[in-house]
Amino acid sequence: MSTDTFRALVARKTEGGQAVALETITEADLPAADVTVDVEFSSFNYKDGLALKGQSRILRTFPMVPGIDFAGTVRTSDNPAFAPGDKVVLTGWGVGESWSGGFAERARVKGEWLVKLPEGLTTHQAMAIGTAGLTAMLCVDALERYGITPGGDVLVTGAAGGVGSVAVRLLSRLGYKVSALTGRRSEEDFLKSIGACEIVDRDTYAAAGKPLASERWHGAVDTVGGQILANVLASTAYGGAVAACGLAAATDLPTTVFPFILRNVALLGVDSVNCPTARRARAWARLSDVLEPNDLDQVTRDVGLDDLPRLADDIIAGRVRGRTVVRTR
Ligand code: NDP
Repeated sequence: MSTDTFRALVARKTEGGQAVALETITEADLPAADVTVDVEFSSFNYKDGLALKGQSRILRTFPMVPGIDFAGTVRTSDNPAFAPGDKVVLTGWGVGESWSGGFAERARVKGEWLVKLPEGLTTHQAMAIGTAGLTAMLCVDALERYGITPGGDVLVTGAAGGVGSVAVRLLSRLGYKVSALTGRRSEEDFLKSIGACEIVDRDTYAAAGKPLASERWHGAVDTVGGQILANVLASTAYGGAVAACGLAAATDLPTTVFPFILRNVALLGVDSVNCPTARRARAWARLSDVLEPNDLDQVTRDVGLDDLPRLADDIIAGRVRGRTVVRTR
């Protein structure tokens, strides 16, 4: 095992909770596993914001390197499926929660968690997509498996956020008519530039509504939960479906059974953390096919490891636009 040092953001337990600081560590500080990766980029997700703020018990053990995803180059491997020099991406599997993650120059993980980058996708682009973009793709897959097809009206909630903005871009590239629900009217031009045809004001979906409203959406990607998800279900057309992946507004779901039993509406749960590897690999390949290089530039900005503690407040408050790529070196 290499004894040279590298930089990592480390969360340590304190009497009052936890403290997060940039530290210099060695491979002995990482968990034992079969593949070591030189991390080039990580990304900043809502869950990373919660982790850095010590909320929702995202970090399960200490000390911990947060960062739920990363992309980089294999440095050493005892796994026959990976060789030094392979470009790889990792999302989920509890990395950055109960296993040291991507906010470091190096990570050591189980090879079975890694996906080789599809041809044509750089490590920077992989993290412009990141956990959020993979989740957006899995939501689109879920809608399509249910029979939702391009051409129809679809709604994306939390549209200016990470999952939302990639979902808007993907769905519009695939030929759907995309409406973007947002609480930030100031992001209207941004949302239209990434393919939204119409902007829906968050307030119109925020209050308790009727169990069934007029049928507007053939499909929806919901990243926020709560009353907004209930109202989206109530306004989904006969035979439509809603892919639910997030809780940015709330974890409850104050709905009735009417959309399900009178309109054949389906609520499709989407998890990216424990998604089987074969489905992930297909999703990455499809992301690489569908998205144009410029699509990612439009929704992304780059930051360094030192910027993350400050950004945690912003992402939890819903103030971050699109995707945030983290340079680790
Ligand atoms: P972001 O913070 O980037 O985006 C969330 C967006 O939700 C915000 O930009 C905002 O969009 C909207 N929002 C924020 N607060 C509220 C509120 N109180 N009420 C209504 N809308 C709100 O987060 P991510 O895109 O990274 O993640 C989105 C959600 O998806 C999170 O809950 C996250 O935990 C979940 N997630 C789940 C995954 C899974 O595997 N199931 C994987 C990845 C993420 P706007 O300003 O446009 O309204």
